[in-house]
Amino acid sequence: MRLLVIEDEPKTVGYLKKGLEESGFVVDTARTGIDGLHLALTGDYDLLVLDVMLPGLDGWGVVEKLRVHKSTPVLFLSARDALDDRVHGLELGGDDYLVKPFAFVELLARIRTLLRRGPAREAEHLVVGDLEIDVVKRRVRRAGTRIDLTPREFSLLHLLARRRSEVLSRTQIASYVWDMNFDSDTNVVEVAVRRLRAKVDDPFTLKLIHTVRGMGYVLDIQEP
Ligand code: CA
Repeated sequence: MRLLVIEDEPKTVGYLKKGLEESGFVVDTARTGIDGLHLALTGDYDLLVLDVMLPGLDGWGVVEKLRVHKSTPVLFLSARDALDDRVHGLELGGDDYLVKPFAFVELLARIRTLLRRGPAREAEHLVVGDLEIDVVKRRVRRAGTRIDLTPREFSLLHLLARRRSEVLSRTQIASYVWDMNFDSDTNVVEVAVRRLRAKVDDPFTLKLIHTVRGMGYVLDIQEP
């Protein structure tokens, strides 16, 4: 079992790495949110131990970005123990939340519980107005009518629907849907959105995909 510990405090990192390795895990570490996210996205981890307070991109930002691509279980570590923080962390897609200082045996017990539970499940069914997305079967309907999409169009629609009412920039969309960074050629995104709209919105009175001038696109029942 391979774990990734993302924590900026050297003493805590050392202590966690040593303890977890002694408990039989393979442990990689990262000191910043950016490095941690990069490792989490490119590596193959069974679980992330993620500190909330990190320089630059914080733990919440990491989990939010991670969840677009991966459902690796995440155990948050935090010195904060306000209920709001805990709820926020879990809402963003964390799987458990441990308040510092904690006993190592408790951390170990929580890690083992999460690993037994397996990866967090993504929503299998998304509904926005009369739009229905069956994520498992990759089927889309509007007002009960089946809409055929290419795999890329499906990914794009899935992204917009799962981040409903959030404005996504062309660059964000490009990096999520194409898994690459387009610096200038975000025209690719515009073309893809136009094709998607032709299938998902044009035949219907209620438009769901909206352009936010200078910012990007948003999917919602109402215009932003
Ligand atoms: Ca910290």
